[in-house]
Amino acid sequence: MAENGASPVALELVPALPIPDHLIGEVRSKLAYVDEAIARAEITGDGDHIHLTLHQPIDDARQAQLDEKVQRVVTSMVKGAFRPKVQVLEDHLDRPAPYTQDPMVELLQRGEVSQEIPGVFALGPRLARLMAFFEDRFVELADSFQAPPYRFPTLIPAHYLERVNYFHAFPHSLTFATHLREDLDVIDHFAGQAACDEHGLVAPPASFAQVQALLSPAVCYHLYFSLADRPLPGGQLAATAVGNCFRYEAINLASLERLWNFTMREIIFVGPKDFVLENRETARQRMQPVFKEIGLAYRMESANDPFFIGEFRKQAAFQSAFQLKFEIRARLPFSDSTLAVGSYNYHQDFFGRSLNISLPDGSPAHTGCVAFGLERIAYAFLAQHGLDPANWPQWVREAANG
Ligand code: AMP
Ligand code: ZN
Repeated sequence: MAENGASPVALELVPALPIPDHLIGEVRSKLAYVDEAIARAEITGDGDHIHLTLHQPIDDARQAQLDEKVQRVVTSMVKGAFRPKVQVLEDHLDRPAPYTQDPMVELLQRGEVSQEIPGVFALGPRLARLMAFFEDRFVELADSFQAPPYRFPTLIPAHYLERVNYFHAFPHSLTFATHLREDLDVIDHFAGQAACDEHGLVAPPASFAQVQALLSPAVCYHLYFSLADRPLPGGQLAATAVGNCFRYEAINLASLERLWNFTMREIIFVGPKDFVLENRETARQRMQPVFKEIGLAYRMESANDPFFIGEFRKQAAFQSAFQLKFEIRARLPFSDSTLAVGSYNYHQDFFGRSLNISLPDGSPAHTGCVAFGLERIAYAFLAQHGLDPANWPQWVREAANG
């Protein structure tokens, strides 16, 4: 039942162009942002039917609008798209993964996770210890590069994101921070009237100040901005930081797989092209035996970022052609799928140019980062090995079983 008592309805659409299999996941995830009426979106395996579930029935005019928007997404993402050549750098998907259930069921039953709102979870000691264990491994990796630690804020200024084109590339996933306007009447009114309904806070939009800051979607941007508009000290540097990151994923928010608020540990390289690319590759090689010892079944393959609809085709093709992104995709045995638990990224001189970070020869710096999602890696580990530490690989059992 929808919140107001109306029943959900099913709607089937035929896409204007058949959706090729390599784009089914990307198009499906974007359908979450097409219309607030959409509660669920699925695309059939052959890509020629879209099944939507709507919160409640809509009239013909509204349906025509919805249909037009869906077709706009399909056309924009599919027309002229070519199948990227997926490059596989490592394949350890066949490592033993004895557990076959969705760990979320047991985690919820045991009170080890509790959902605050979709995509926002409180995590208990088992997950917290596992995340700390993985954190330690990533900090060891950072230490191996003598990458010193940094601390960055959770808020990021709007003008930072504007300067690196983020509003254009990922508008759908932004989370804005605001506060009440500095006006006694506004604050008094809010204090007296504010209340929540089932959708959230009810308050006049005019109570809120203009957005100066957002919740940060990534860690490494803060480092690049701290280096902006000057020569890069020493001509190259490595750094590491962990932080809360925010990406609003609408109805795609599901279990610990896709969170609104998650934690990322990054190791970041800034310098000449070869410095960045060599370190990215070294990081991959150093993590390989670590993941083996942890018993993680995964594949490391080329990937692209989830650019918004209009930007997607061009940007994804560019990332693929220049091998800018590789992901560690861990196996989720219960759903026979994989989940990205980390990424190895090369941005070329995009940040160096956009932010005017210069190398000693005057050219723009290149950047790259290795980014791990702590909730995701803990979740993927539990999906493969279960919640009982007795069944965990020895290293993890001894280090993360409190
Ligand atoms: P990315 O910068 O998109 O490559 O993200 C780096 C890592 O952060 C991913 O490999 C995931 O492990 C994690 N991550 C990204 N988005 C989410 C999300 N919505 N929920 C949980 N973890 C995420
Ligand atoms: Zn990064």
